Amino acid sequence: MKMGFGHPPPGQTQPAPGCIWVRRRVRQLLRCFTRCCSLCLDCMDILLRVLGPLMVLLAVFLIGFVAYTFFTIIVPQLADEGTSSPMLLGQLALGCFILVNIMYNYAMAVCLRAGEPPPFPGEGDAEAGDGSLSLRQCQKCLRSKPPRAHHCSVCKQCVMKMDHHCPWINNCVGFNNYRYFCLFMLYLALGCLYVVILGYRLFLQSVAPIRKRPPNFRFADAQCISLSWLISLCIFLALCLLGGFHAYLVVTNQTTIEFHINMGNRHAAKRKGEVYRNPYDLGHSRNFQEVFGPNRFLHFLWMMPYLAKRPTGSGASFPTVSELEPV
Ligand SMILES: [Zn+2]
Ligand SMILES: [Zn+2]
Repeated sequence: MKMGFGHPPPGQTQPAPGCIWVRRRVRQLLRCFTRCCSLCLDCMDILLRVLGPLMVLLAVFLIGFVAYTFFTIIVPQLADEGTSSPMLLGQLALGCFILVNIMYNYAMAVCLRAGEPPPFPGEGDAEAGDGSLSLRQCQKCLRSKPPRAHHCSVCKQCVMKMDHHCPWINNCVGFNNYRYFCLFMLYLALGCLYVVILGYRLFLQSVAPIRKRPPNFRFADAQCISLSWLISLCIFLALCLLGGFHAYLVVTNQTTIEFHINMGNRHAAKRKGEVYRNPYDLGHSRNFQEVFGPNRFLHFLWMMPYLAKRPTGSGASFPTVSELEPV
């Protein structure tokens, strides 16, 4: 007997009409939920596009405000309290170095395109250039989609070695600007820690009752110091978490997207009694050089990207463990 939908196999009873009604309603609810989620994601993309430039302005404003407080209030206040001239010069020089590096790396992360893949060479053309690329075509932007590339729904294009779309830089973080993004976080954390340490005593004075403050301590200065110190502390704590996570990603050669994919693969392999290995994990040192270029970690030149060597490769193909290991 031919069996189709609504005809239960012999021996099974027909579901009750009430049960069928419930199943239909559940299916309708699921479809409705999926449509709502898709609509919410579209709204988020639009919101990120609109808020992006404002977030960049806010970031520049916050950095500018803390820098203004440091150079025009904290350092002169330290000078008034008897800090020696060589020490003050050293503090000023270190402050300038950190600020210049924050702004340089931030500008590069914002302005540099994260990494647009090459145009798709044509249907069925699976090899291009060195013949090692396994090119796929993105169904949304129709460009080629090399390994590790993903489509960004906010930028509406594919990005090579995409990490994530960052509203604070109003740009995607990808192959071209990942090292600037990491260095921006590093210098920002150092800058915030510097303000927190140097401004700690002044912060305690600024939140003390007015009669206990030094006579040359103006009310507006106290407000600027307390606000800047709190902003620096909050940003430093947030960057410890975010920066720590990205340090882990760099030494294990994963992007944020791959971290989630690899976690799923690891669980799936574990269920089968196997061990999953990230194919791009080439060892800590090589993983580090994939992001910061062929520079030695202990030489610290990688911290100055305007002097350091650029990362090698085009962003369209990446060495894997199986290519490096002897057969
Ligand atoms: Zn795409
Ligand atoms: Zn994007």
